[in-house]
Amino acid sequence: MSAQLIDGKAIAARMRARLAEARQTLGDRHVRLVSLQVGQNPAAAVYVRNQQRAATEVGILMEVVDLPKGTTQDQVVAEILQHSRRADVAGIIVQRPLPPTIDARSVQMAIDPRLDVEGMHPANMGAILYREPMFPPCTAAAAEHLILATGIDLRGAETVVVGHSEIVGKPIAILLLHRLSTVTVCHVGTRNLGDHTRQADILVVAVGKPGLVRGDMVKPGAVVIDIGINQLVDGSLVGDCEHSSVAAVAGHLTPVPGGVGPVTVAMLLRNTLRAAGADI
Ligand code: NAP
Repeated sequence: MSAQLIDGKAIAARMRARLAEARQTLGDRHVRLVSLQVGQNPAAAVYVRNQQRAATEVGILMEVVDLPKGTTQDQVVAEILQHSRRADVAGIIVQRPLPPTIDARSVQMAIDPRLDVEGMHPANMGAILYREPMFPPCTAAAAEHLILATGIDLRGAETVVVGHSEIVGKPIAILLLHRLSTVTVCHVGTRNLGDHTRQADILVVAVGKPGLVRGDMVKPGAVVIDIGINQLVDGSLVGDCEHSSVAAVAGHLTPVPGGVGPVTVAMLLRNTLRAAGADI
């Protein structure tokens, strides 16, 4: 069997077209997304450029604020508060990685939940449990969207999420639980990862370790969502799944790059339009 690749680029392009239509309903006023970053990071710079291009396509002004390397946590928080007071700012995001002197969670907490378009503030995270998130976390929402795009029936499906981070693994598990799939979450304490992953009709991998999941760990025909992004020494990007062996067994597989990433950006823009008042 050779897996059908889930074309995240094409799915994201369709989403952006719908978002551009929703943007029109807001009229001529500016919809601004402020992106803060501290210090220069080449990988983040590529990501920010992609976000900016997508935002422009949809009709959102993405304002990139580059703070110098030595910026303190208090200064980042002050910057967030200053942008929060601007009437045309619909959303604020803080790019990662942050320097080790800055606590990402404290900074995220300084963003008003109504401007937290990444969906990472505890208020938005907590709302997921009640099925009423204002802004679902973008990567989790993207993973759910890509799974639904395959047409698989989630109700009763065995789902395994590998990785239990607050911003990716845990919210994905909750979103898929709401769809009545039977969710198992694996992590560093999991004794034999393959014993779990081989049971999965839907396998979501979000760890950041290339080659963690191989074809012999995948159930034939499974839907595999590879969220990991790892840069190899030659500069190429790979996911957490060993692509060739997993593609030989899975029914559907997201490529890296071109899978979850572009849809994550589209979710960010959707959240920004929602923050600006669009009904989407
Ligand atoms: P993270 O905060 O480092 O979390 C990684 C998770 O994997 C942790 O829960 C960790 O457990 C767990 N883990 C570590 N080793 C493991 C193992 N051997 N087996 C099972 N679980 C293990 O990373 P993240 O922010 O969730 O991101 C995960 C990956 O997704 C990264 O590669 C990141 O670049 C990528 N990502 C992609 C997108 C996108 O748009 N495509 C967006 C966000 C993130 P412990 O905490 O207990 O160690």
